[in-house]
Amino acid sequence: MKALERKFDKLGLRSSFDFVLHLPLRYEDETAITSPRQAPPGRPVLVEAPVKRAEVAYRPRRQLVVHAEGLVLRFFNFYGSQLKQFQRAAETGRRVRAFGEVRAGWFGAEMAHPRYRIVDEGEPLPDALTPIYPTTAGLSQAELRARVLEALDAESLDDTLPEGLRRRLELADFAQSVQLLHRPQPGADLSAAWRRVKFDELLAQQLSMRFAYRRRRSRAAPVLKVNGALLKRFLSALPFTLTRAQTRAMNEILRDLREPHPMQRLLQGDVGSGKTIVAAIACLAAVDSGTQAAVMAPTEILSEQHWRKFSEWLEPLGVRLGYLRGAMGKKEKKQMLEGRVLIGTHALIQEDVEFSRLGLAVVDEQHRFGVEQRLALRKKAAGLVPHQLMMSATPIPRTLSMTYFADLDVSTIDELPPGRGAVTTKLVSGKRRPDVLARIREACAEGQQAYWVCPVIEESKAGLSTALQTYEVLKKELSGLRVELLHGRMPAAEKAATMQAFQENRIQVLVATTVIEVGVDVPNASLMVIESAERFGLSQLHQLRGRIGRGARESVCILLYGELQGNARERLKVIFESADGFEIARKDLELRGPGEFLGERQSGAPLLRFADLERDKDLVEAAVQAAAELIDSDAVAARAHVQRWLGSRQELTHA
Ligand code: ADP
Ligand code: MG
Repeated sequence: MKALERKFDKLGLRSSFDFVLHLPLRYEDETAITSPRQAPPGRPVLVEAPVKRAEVAYRPRRQLVVHAEGLVLRFFNFYGSQLKQFQRAAETGRRVRAFGEVRAGWFGAEMAHPRYRIVDEGEPLPDALTPIYPTTAGLSQAELRARVLEALDAESLDDTLPEGLRRRLELADFAQSVQLLHRPQPGADLSAAWRRVKFDELLAQQLSMRFAYRRRRSRAAPVLKVNGALLKRFLSALPFTLTRAQTRAMNEILRDLREPHPMQRLLQGDVGSGKTIVAAIACLAAVDSGTQAAVMAPTEILSEQHWRKFSEWLEPLGVRLGYLRGAMGKKEKKQMLEGRVLIGTHALIQEDVEFSRLGLAVVDEQHRFGVEQRLALRKKAAGLVPHQLMMSATPIPRTLSMTYFADLDVSTIDELPPGRGAVTTKLVSGKRRPDVLARIREACAEGQQAYWVCPVIEESKAGLSTALQTYEVLKKELSGLRVELLHGRMPAAEKAATMQAFQENRIQVLVATTVIEVGVDVPNASLMVIESAERFGLSQLHQLRGRIGRGARESVCILLYGELQGNARERLKVIFESADGFEIARKDLELRGPGEFLGERQSGAPLLRFADLERDKDLVEAAVQAAAELIDSDAVAARAHVQRWLGSRQELTHA
């Protein structure tokens, strides 16, 4: 690749159409010349004057000074060739046309390092505004403009949308819209053009996901029995009564499993809403049908816990389970793989793992995995396409689930099991740490347990030392209590032993990093202290807090804060005021935007460039509806549309 192409590539500009859709950030008005003396302050203008002389000055610092009629130009960084260029212009009576802000200086009107050109008198002015494009280091606006104009000329800008749709939604013509946005007249109204572009972008995203969904859905998957003996026995003797929301989600899932096409369902529900048992029910349908089921979780702690839960629930039915650990001998692994329900972390997708007949793949805390990892799990099915159930405790706001999750069917558990004690959240300044320690002693004296969460990324070395330090300090501060440490870098067996001890109340205070963020379920733990809470994301705080309030007793979550900068106060207030995961997710999305909210692992695909999910809500709804219609009524047009928009870009999909 040539240097220039590499820079274009960095901006995602590969196909010629990518340039058509590389739209300006803003414009500069170079269509009229303003006299330097009449230039309005603070606004860049185009001025023109004959060059009189040019020289290098050294005070107050080295600079190129160009004297033109009624105007001085100063360049603090310049090439020798520029000096010569201006000197030649002065000799031959040529003029400088410069764009920038005019300021009052020593000699009258002045400009500092303006964009400029040497011209002859009467040289025509552009008849449109000058577009300023998003760019990258070393790539000039002129280079971008040239390629965009070339592309606008070369590409057919035919409308991909059927006439009827355009008329119904009162959408502007596509060709006119992009032409206008790249070269508008001064004062032109661009709103209709932007509306068209945003709609097209949303529609392309929507169609692309629907195509992905259809493609996967068109494949054959094993039909699973949903009224088999094991499932019936389990349902008739459940450890508790399912909530209405759990029952609804279960029915939606079982309905999918009966079909000869792979299920692609996202099961979302707030922390503690009881997704695990619904997954276990789905697994039983697979076992009843003579296939295997696999349950993949992002951490050892979580998969160990699933392993214990599933053993408790399924072993009495005589279902053989398999647990896959990262470091495991060949022989043991082989034995484990004979289980009917296989549980594990990424160990499930290691190279030497192969399932015999995988009917169902469950991915817990799916947002913690990348697309390739989820794909890898399905590929382990020896040619069979398994049904897929993804679970997430990060509730997805409606606008997001309509757009970024359009390639999945979604079940939502929107109620918590009864009998949960309330969780009170307190915001406490780090200075009041002694009070917090007293509180922990009190709780432990009553037989309760506590988490102390440190604000470190579980994998980072630097962070680890903070957790270790906190642990050492707390051990002294809480002497007499059984305090232990849990972090992501501990050997798996040690982690499991610590978790087990906490589960059995042999540990009273668990000092932990965010390894406990997902899934951990210890009902007797009713107190949580989160240190430097301002450093966590909103959804993360909500997840962490979801670890308590699991027993009948009232729980308390103490958010210790240090220095509150930026929107930290606002964020903590959201957590303080709301216990509703959906509400918190919505605020989180608002404060961080979809890119960060979803996390880069969610998919490497481009997020929306022009449309904004909140601001353009109406267009989102319109695009969702239009996509549903178009894909049925005119698949050719739908494909052409996706091709144009995504072209060389990666497709956005979850499964
Ligand atoms: P999550 O949705 O966060 O994964 P879990 O599946 O871990 O939640 O469930 C949280 C706790 O609630 C577990 O101890 C689970 O056994 C229990 N539970 C689930 N459903 C019910 C229910 N319907 N009634 C009572 N307890 C339940
Ligand atoms: Mg869970």
